[in-house]
Amino acid sequence: MSKSYKIGVIKGDGIGPEIIDEAIKVLDAVSVKEGFTLRYEEMLLGGAAIDETGVPLPDETIQGVKKCDAVLFGAIGGPKWDNLERHLRPETGLLGLRKEMGTFANLRPAMVYDELVNASTLKPEVIRGVDIMVVRELTGGIYFGQPRAIEGDKAYNTMVYTREEVERIAVVAFDIAMKRNKRVCSVDKANVLEVSQFWREIVEEIAKDYPEVELTHMYVDNAAMQLIRAPKQFDVILTGNIFGDILSDAASMLSGSIGLLPSASTGKGVGLYEPIHGSAPDIAGQGIANPLATISSASMMLRYALGEEKAADRIDEAIKKALADGYRTGDLGDYDAKEICSCSEIGDIIADYASK
Ligand code: NAD
Repeated sequence: MSKSYKIGVIKGDGIGPEIIDEAIKVLDAVSVKEGFTLRYEEMLLGGAAIDETGVPLPDETIQGVKKCDAVLFGAIGGPKWDNLERHLRPETGLLGLRKEMGTFANLRPAMVYDELVNASTLKPEVIRGVDIMVVRELTGGIYFGQPRAIEGDKAYNTMVYTREEVERIAVVAFDIAMKRNKRVCSVDKANVLEVSQFWREIVEEIAKDYPEVELTHMYVDNAAMQLIRAPKQFDVILTGNIFGDILSDAASMLSGSIGLLPSASTGKGVGLYEPIHGSAPDIAGQGIANPLATISSASMMLRYALGEEKAADRIDEAIKKALADGYRTGDLGDYDAKEICSCSEIGDIIADYASK
């Protein structure tokens, strides 16, 4: 009997529905080809959920995602809901969902497609061939540490990591490195911070279980510089919450367009796969959004949540071929385009290439 997976689908707001439709089109094409079945269950989040139920994260969504093998998510938010109180805003729904799902690892690839080297602000020779995976710890560190307060003339936060938190994120990074080029660079500030010294010691311990993976360490200030100076030196970057926040945004800009890059938030249970961009209300409903980041997120879902590597490879290759053949959505139009496509046209092309 062929394998069957249940996928939670959260279209969200703005361009969310358009880009998710294209990702599903491509998923359907590769699942037929590779002989597995995907069953989709739509769930509400963000503005769409507010309109329908009055809250940004309905209980049905919290319960629903837990019964899925993975969740594919578009984007939420928009001016229509901007003036609501904080606890009722779309973004609060997304943060709440991530917390409910216990997604402690944020995976952010930063890759540069050969055909788009001119889209970056950096020189082609610096970025051609860049393929980095930033593995960021997402639910610990200074963003969550206690105590934290503003007290009169002082304010403070606490950077804290437990052994368990460091171990589990390090395992994620080493597991991913095993599927890639087997190099992990752990980024910290161990020359100044005890918490980083502790982090480094634990990462060294975990590395012993992965003798094939080469581990290096780098201070975060140097890492920021090296990402811009010579990004090709990196394979997997493993880092904590605040350093990862900053480095993953810097790394994402190597590729040149926000419409290209996927992400995954994974943990002990179900993972959330989503583009790094927002709901782009300025172009919503016009059929011109770039669905590539969402289609790439679907590929990550196949690879990391379902273990369907061949289907994921099909999608990645189809995206590269579509770009190589000069098909672009308008946001990439200036860069060596043969034909400017609508959101659904480029989805058709990628679905077609992926099923050949
Ligand atoms: P944005 O990423 O939505 O858009 C920034 C710019 O990039 C816009 O000009 C937009 O048209 C363009 N853009 C983004 N994605 C594109 C795509 N796929 N194809 C073509 N162009 C694209 O960021 P913003 O404008 O700051 O935020 C808009 C809304 O999205 C806000 O409500 C914000 O809170 C929300 N948001 C949601 C998420 C999420 O759901 N994960 C993330 C960030 C922002």
